[in-house]
Amino acid sequence: MATYDLIIKNGTVVTAERTVQADIAVKDGKIIKVSPDKAIEESADRVINAEGLHVFPGLIDSHVHFNEPGRADWEGLETGSKSLAAGGATSFFDMPLNSTPPVINKENLERKQELAKEKSVVNAFCWGGLVPENISDLKALHDGGVIGFKAFMSPSGIEDFNNADDETLYKGMKEIASFGSLLAVHAESTVMCEELAAEKKAAGKTSAQDYVDSRPIISEIEAVKRVISYAELTGCKLHIVHASSRKVVKVIEDAKKRGVDVTVETCPHYLALTVEDLAEQKAIAKCAPPLRDKHELEDLWEAVKAGEIDTIGSDHSPAPADMKVITDNFFEGWGGISGAQSTLNILLTEGHFKRGVPLEKIVEVAATNPAKIFNIPMKGKIDAGYDADITIVNLSESFVLEKDDLEYRHKHSPYIGHEYQGKVKTTIVNGEVVFENDKIVAGK
Ligand SMILES: [Zn+2]
Repeated sequence: MATYDLIIKNGTVVTAERTVQADIAVKDGKIIKVSPDKAIEESADRVINAEGLHVFPGLIDSHVHFNEPGRADWEGLETGSKSLAAGGATSFFDMPLNSTPPVINKENLERKQELAKEKSVVNAFCWGGLVPENISDLKALHDGGVIGFKAFMSPSGIEDFNNADDETLYKGMKEIASFGSLLAVHAESTVMCEELAAEKKAAGKTSAQDYVDSRPIISEIEAVKRVISYAELTGCKLHIVHASSRKVVKVIEDAKKRGVDVTVETCPHYLALTVEDLAEQKAIAKCAPPLRDKHELEDLWEAVKAGEIDTIGSDHSPAPADMKVITDNFFEGWGGISGAQSTLNILLTEGHFKRGVPLEKIVEVAATNPAKIFNIPMKGKIDAGYDADITIVNLSESFVLEKDDLEYRHKHSPYIGHEYQGKVKTTIVNGEVVFENDKIVAGK
């Protein structure tokens, strides 16, 4: 009998701390040994020669909407998780809404957990929701294993997931703090967004730029400042999702300096696309908060480099093609960008190769920090004792993303036709190869 299940030989291993040549030995889903000094000579059932390749911890996508149960025709746990595997991600945290019934009580959580166990080819974790109606359900959701709670400060667009008013934020955060969990918020000002949108529409102004101007950066800043105040008051750990501008990140930086326990996420689309892409690709590139301009995009990369961004999650939020239609009015057409498969490609191409972001920083924001912030021990790192969640990438190989490369249920994405440097060769989840040779091999 072989000593190990798997040995990855001769690869360049990237962690949040350093990049080093090393062999990796895996048994029973765990990394047993990382050997930088000498080759691992023992036997294994399978040996992968990673010479010339880079070995990363599998990405942990802390922000996806896979919409199952209830709207699996929008994506689903199987296709969604396969797209992650193809993109080098080995874990995801599914948002409580867009799936229906939403994860706002224990029963609904258990239903999603069962489906995920059955269908996902990568590690699945669930967010719980905080809505005005479910303060008394939060503890049971926490005990049921949610990684944290998500609330909307502006309307979510989904009728069975109400946004949290200030009273809900206060009561919910007090409750969440009592058992030491965390609240993530979609932070935009309802009043600002609704008034500005009404004014634009009344004036017949419905272009891409008008839509973007109706959800300005100041609306994010107002909401972020307000929810940080509740975090300071209640002691609740806070996570701001999808910050679209470094100006928003700056507010969070200031709060961190005051000792507030707050972290911030941005998404690949704010780092790769602008309002011009929205004008061109229409609903395929529509999201909220919206895409900004080139200056904001570059400034956000500076925030990544400066260590001001804690996590980068895809906010993969797909919908069927017939909902993604905009003719002239950019206030119409369902928002949400399909991007889960492209996160690592964007971070490598736009970040590492074009802007000099160190590989270690990419690992930190896309794997190590999500594991740390959301308290998933033994993930997000390549080290002895950690789960064998690994992605092997050829940084020398480039490719153009084609529609047919996508594992999504609906094969649209603003990244189709983009050229990327760095190709995912193999994705390993708990020691099992789930993707190789451009194919999903899990469950075969
Ligand atoms: Zn989202």
